[in-house]
Amino acid sequence: MSPSTTIGLLGGGQLGMMLCESASPLNVPIAVLDAENAPAKQINSNKHHVTGSFKDPAKIRELAANCDVLTVEVEHIDTQVLEEIATHGVQVSAADGSTTTKKVAVHPSWKTLRLIQNKYEQKDYLGKQGIPIAEQLALDSGDSMLASMKEASAKFGFPWMLKSRKDSYDGRGNLKISSEADLEHAVSEFGSLSCYAEKWVPFEIELSVIVIRTEDDEGNTKRLIPYPAVETIHEDNICSRVFMPPRNVAPDVSEQAQKVACSVVEKLWGRGVFAVELFFTKDGKVVVNEIAPRPHNSGHHLIEAVPYMSQYKAQLTAILDGPLPEELQPHVSSSIMINILGGANADSHDRLVEKAKSMYANNMAVYLHLYGKESKPSRKIGHITLTGLGTIAELEEFAQPLIKIAEEIRQ
Ligand code: ATP
Ligand code: MG
Ligand code: MG
Repeated sequence: MSPSTTIGLLGGGQLGMMLCESASPLNVPIAVLDAENAPAKQINSNKHHVTGSFKDPAKIRELAANCDVLTVEVEHIDTQVLEEIATHGVQVSAADGSTTTKKVAVHPSWKTLRLIQNKYEQKDYLGKQGIPIAEQLALDSGDSMLASMKEASAKFGFPWMLKSRKDSYDGRGNLKISSEADLEHAVSEFGSLSCYAEKWVPFEIELSVIVIRTEDDEGNTKRLIPYPAVETIHEDNICSRVFMPPRNVAPDVSEQAQKVACSVVEKLWGRGVFAVELFFTKDGKVVVNEIAPRPHNSGHHLIEAVPYMSQYKAQLTAILDGPLPEELQPHVSSSIMINILGGANADSHDRLVEKAKSMYANNMAVYLHLYGKESKPSRKIGHITLTGLGTIAELEEFAQPLIKIAEEIRQ
């Protein structure tokens, strides 16, 4: 890893902020493209930052001119301009007015980002590679949407999930269709979007596996290193808690999930970390929900659980082609992550923060992360990680007061 390599980061939210936190002790400079007061800029002063939107191609080019390799903290980015930068380079102006073209690598590859941006195409691609996914059906938009949703209802039965192909996160872009009566409302809400129908997956629990991927200069997979699987809890479509190891399932489920996740990430392009969201079904199967081609909410706990190689350090190390360990062995036996979501009032979460600061115990630890974001209802404004040297059940019992307050804030 060359300490002089500057990384350009598209998006400066909490994922970018934690990437900067792990880059700082390594002396890796990160130039961020986002608004002036973005969380990643609040903790990382840098003359290479660019102020603007990561959706603006001109700003992306300006950022690329300031750095050696580009990466992302969000997948909803114009891949046309990333392809142009990765393939042809970017124009850089010298002090004397002359211009040269500079090569700037993009990791993960724009190809991965383009595929993943469209959830229908993402899963269509995976399904064709033999990866287990939920059955899906393309839907018409506009006037014929109702008719095509009736076809989906006949094919899948109720309930099924209506999903926007693009721009969805935290469940904004999903609508559960429970009966014929929901269809009219679905057209009025989703009629202007390009959508698809997904068969309901009767899952026992949801899992997530983060995989580090490296590749050679020709784009062939070099290394695939999975972190231990975690159980994720989603409430109102937003991740509220994460458990490592998953509760109430056989230990080999984690290995089964790691295998599927690695087979998914092998089919993608570029270096970095990739989160694979999975369903574990009641009949013991692992089914892929979706991929995030970047550090992920389900891997925040790794900062403390795998301190020598958090998902953020792994992202930096992989894109800079630095040395990675053979396997990722946690330093603790259990970990829980609780998201701090904004409540009804700007200070609703204060109680949760104060409680987290007050909790101490033998063989267990509580770590608070606040992102410097203004509180809004359901907005992710921080998280709490707990680690333990005992069982996940013991740690969960210790975490109960925090889980209870987080639930109360959501009401
Ligand atoms: P993210 O913030 O993870 O990007 P998203 O908006 O892309 O979220 P999904 O991951 O598609 O949304 O779905 C959000 C949640 O909805 C899932 O974690 C799961 O709890 C539920 N869900 C999604 N698809 C299905 C399905 N086919 N069957 C049952 N539940 C589902
Ligand atoms: Mg998603
Ligand atoms: Mg998801």
